[in-house]
Amino acid sequence: MDLYQTLHSMLPDVDIYQNHPLAPYTTLKIGGPAQVFVQAKTYDQFISILKLVRQLINQNLLSLDQVFILGAGSNLLVSDQGFPGLVIKNSASGLNFTSGQVTADSGTPLPFLITQTLSQSLTGLEYFAYIPANLGGAIYSNIHGVNQAQFSDYLDSIQVFDLKTGQTSTLTANSLSWDYDTSHFQSNPNLIILSAALRLYPQDPSPAQHLYQQTLSQKSQNQPMNSAGCVFKNPPGFFAGQIIDELGWKGKTIGDAQICPTHANFIVNNGQATAQNYLDLAKAVQADVFQKKGIKLDFEIKLVGDFSL
Ligand SMILES: Cc1cc2nc3c(=O)[nH]c(=O)nc-3n(C[C@H](O)[C@H](O)[C@H](O)COP(=O)(O)OP(=O)(O)OC[C@H]3O[C@@H](n4cnc5c(N)ncnc54)[C@H](O)[C@@H]3O)c2cc1C
Repeated sequence: MDLYQTLHSMLPDVDIYQNHPLAPYTTLKIGGPAQVFVQAKTYDQFISILKLVRQLINQNLLSLDQVFILGAGSNLLVSDQGFPGLVIKNSASGLNFTSGQVTADSGTPLPFLITQTLSQSLTGLEYFAYIPANLGGAIYSNIHGVNQAQFSDYLDSIQVFDLKTGQTSTLTANSLSWDYDTSHFQSNPNLIILSAALRLYPQDPSPAQHLYQQTLSQKSQNQPMNSAGCVFKNPPGFFAGQIIDELGWKGKTIGDAQICPTHANFIVNNGQATAQNYLDLAKAVQADVFQKKGIKLDFEIKLVGDFSL
């Protein structure tokens, strides 16, 4: 029995598709299909899917690198050939306010989490206004916000499912190592984020709400949503966007992929860009920056599927 049929027979109540287009699930709207695509709409569905995946891995019917967890798709460049394996779209969303703090499922949209916590006078997440992530993706990427904020500063604990052991456990955020755009989860792809307890500050939310609105209006002017956010991480001591701008790349195109005219570290899809267009443009920038400035730019975006690099 193939992967689709196995999942279909074991999870009759879950939406499962074959050869399912991934582009609509990404902010860039680029990329080919997933060989098999399954959508977890609730926390319980997410756990059931992960348990079954763990069984299939155990039976050597699937390998870890054939499984991809899809959050809000806001940091991804999906190959034009798609993903040759199983994509699990995590839409398990929910919030629970207890003892003056909040716990949220990993599929909860970050913008919703921010507005809900501020409405309960819990501050801290306003620094991450405008970022179109889900909670799981924000933790995995340890996103950076305004005023040098890192998402890990606002995490108390993270509940995970381990695809190697089949165990669910809770990790204390302080016990994990975090850095700029770097988390424990990037080097441990077997750990799938289920939910997290946040560490926020109960206080008058007015200044936080002001910062939130101000950040939304500033970022919406120069950070277009038809992108995957910053292409490159900032190298130590520099802003990648500033270097790329100085070298005159703003507005340059390959096909429908364009270096954003308002933010040189963004590449936008003007309609029909392919993943290869995007990658060719990003690599041309990378090579030019290295040649003229001697600085190596590393990708902040994540490549999904096969690419001719
Ligand atoms: C307009 C725009 C502005 C942006 N601004 C910023 C910014 O200011 N700062 C910043 O840091 N980023 C920014 N980004 C990038 C992006 O939003 C973040 O990287 C975000 O964390 C991605 O989250 P996601 O839910 O979209 O994850 P996805 O893009 O879907 O996935 C990203 C990675 O997380 C993994 N993942 C997702 N969920 C889980 C889970 N439950 N368990 C384990 N792994 C998981 C995926 O497998 C993948 O490897 C921006 C993007 C856009 C489009």
